[in-house]
Amino acid sequence: MTIKKSFKYRLRLTKEQESLCNQTAGSCRYVWNRALALKKELWEKKKENLSCFDLNNLLAEWKKELEWLSTSPSQSLQQVNKDLDQAFKNFFRGRGYPKFKKKGIHDSFRLPQGVTLLNQLSKKAGQVQLPKLDIVRFTKTREINGTIKHVTISKTCKNWYISFNCVVDIPKPKEIPQSHIGIDRGIKTFAQCSNREAIPTISPLKKNLKRLAKLQRELSRKKKFSSNWRKTKQKIQKLHNHIANLRSDFLHKASTQLTKSHSLIVMEDLKTKDMAKSAKGTKENPGTNVKAKSSLNRSILDQGWYAFQNYLSYKLNWRGGRLILVSPRNTSIECRICHYISKENRISQEVFQCQSCGHTENADLHASINILSRGIDPPNSFKGGVLAAGHAVIACGVEALASTAKQELLIRKSRSFGI
Ligand SMILES: [Zn+2]
Repeated sequence: MTIKKSFKYRLRLTKEQESLCNQTAGSCRYVWNRALALKKELWEKKKENLSCFDLNNLLAEWKKELEWLSTSPSQSLQQVNKDLDQAFKNFFRGRGYPKFKKKGIHDSFRLPQGVTLLNQLSKKAGQVQLPKLDIVRFTKTREINGTIKHVTISKTCKNWYISFNCVVDIPKPKEIPQSHIGIDRGIKTFAQCSNREAIPTISPLKKNLKRLAKLQRELSRKKKFSSNWRKTKQKIQKLHNHIANLRSDFLHKASTQLTKSHSLIVMEDLKTKDMAKSAKGTKENPGTNVKAKSSLNRSILDQGWYAFQNYLSYKLNWRGGRLILVSPRNTSIECRICHYISKENRISQEVFQCQSCGHTENADLHASINILSRGIDPPNSFKGGVLAAGHAVIACGVEALASTAKQELLIRKSRSFGI
């Protein structure tokens, strides 16, 4: 099986190279914004579409008009047109409308050709030859596997990074674990597994989120665009980046650990609305500081859970396993023994107690077992680590059908993301 995988490293640029990177990212942004504005206008006025080919022809005209565009690698600018074309295709498939790019936000460019990996200078100093930039150095923290398809150069908090996007051959899994689990997501406990294991939310993340909230309050008190305001803004950006790194590291470790020992994982189909609800609490137990908390929850869980779902999906796929998403309806209030459904069953945030049969259990654990049984009921349908297609659908009705289709989509998406 071949998969797409990317390897990202920090670049060690010379002053000239850094300025060329800034220029190229700026030129790419210019081409994107100008092409997007044109496409938008043409579509609104005449309902006509500009193809990638048309845009490349226009690009040649713009280059004659603006000399500074020629200092950047042509392939990077043409790649922008391709990306814009793809963004519109995605839009027509129901994704968001392409946005104009702003300076300082996701500054990057791609190089599809002319990338040559050179011999390492030392154990941790890698070298690569790139068009226009010539030889650039990077801190090589791990080996690059597979065949390089293209590279992306991007800037985060004043630092430049290189990402090698490769195609890697992975061997067929020799042994597939026979274990299957359900996972209940949560705020305090990140993931409660039906086998009683639990992954707590990591504390450094919590600590940093508090610091982030403090800085954001500070920023709101400062005069906009003043030097102090800028300083705080920079601190916030840096912290955001740090949190993102912590989160991604945590999610990768957690998903690797889970997918190594289980071949079938069942989770609830994610709905963003449910996430915001968590901060509000329940009627009996209303949340405090809801607005701040829900925005924090959003940053920690929304992105985190989608990424986690993605990671689980493609990592299971590598190992011959499978992720199944089921309807989240009543998983926390339906008794797993007698199937009595009532809100009263949740006697507190922590404890589930069935008002009909009296079954009492930790609420998160109870929910995770419910989730698992929705995914694999009847249990005999689970064979050799992969659930035969359609069984989850039979078990949980029409809603699960949509979810299974969505899960397949997630696998495809994670493949095309190259992670
Ligand atoms: Zn019961």
